[in-house]
Amino acid sequence: FVRFANVQKSYDGETLVVKNLNLAIARREFLTMLGPSGSGKTTCLMMLAGFETATQGEIVLDGRSITNVPPHRRDIGMVFQNYALFPHMTVAENLAFPLQVRRVGKAEAEERVKKALSMVRLDGFGQRRPAQLSGGQQQRVALARALVFEPKLVLMDEPLGALDKQLRESMQYEIKHLHERLGVTVVYVTHDQGEALTMSDRVAVFNDGVIQQLAPPDELYEHPENAFVAQFIGENN
Ligand code: ATP
Repeated sequence: FVRFANVQKSYDGETLVVKNLNLAIARREFLTMLGPSGSGKTTCLMMLAGFETATQGEIVLDGRSITNVPPHRRDIGMVFQNYALFPHMTVAENLAFPLQVRRVGKAEAEERVKKALSMVRLDGFGQRRPAQLSGGQQQRVALARALVFEPKLVLMDEPLGALDKQLRESMQYEIKHLHERLGVTVVYVTHDQGEALTMSDRVAVFNDGVIQQLAPPDELYEHPENAFVAQFIGENN
């Protein structure tokens, strides 16, 4: 469904932050890119989203090369750590925004916003502003906003990084549940081993711009392919 073929990325024309990446992600898969800071995970996500271009190679989404497709035409929803909600808009207006961009009519947009709010258990919160919500609620609005236009692919970059441990765990469950219910494909970026192992169908362990191992969580845990993976997966577990 998503394919990186021989993708390389350099920001300065010299150092490669992503090196000859080959990765195929199945439809409906929950794939996590796990690795230490600076290992190239976010760069991969940005290339998939269309905010960065690959220096070399090709990225294919749903059977077509997206190299020259602008971000808003890629049918991809995104959630980031810092939520990025519009502070001057209400929750409902925040959710309606991606629908307006896609020229969805008003009545249908209202219907979809309502449905999306209910999906993240925030019925009745539409008229509030982001500042009037807790961190967890704001993150759920961000999640709803990424899903409201029913994208085929959702990208999440450390979406729970700003939340405390307890909230993080309940949000992990919620995201996983939505992934299963909606049948979307998710590419999730984190440096948290526990998060990667509990949520994913497969985990791609990154280090230094290279995938060190790509495997389901139990296999990574039981059969790490090299010393880096063994050590990185072992930390905090
Ligand atoms: P983190 O978890 O800290 O975000 P990461 O694994 O996502 O790390 P990237 O953000 O992809 O890693 O960064 C990989 C390398 O590319 C780093 O060395 C970083 O400094 C560099 N880099 C990232 N974005 C840019 C940019 N816009 N311009 C120049 N260099 C960049």
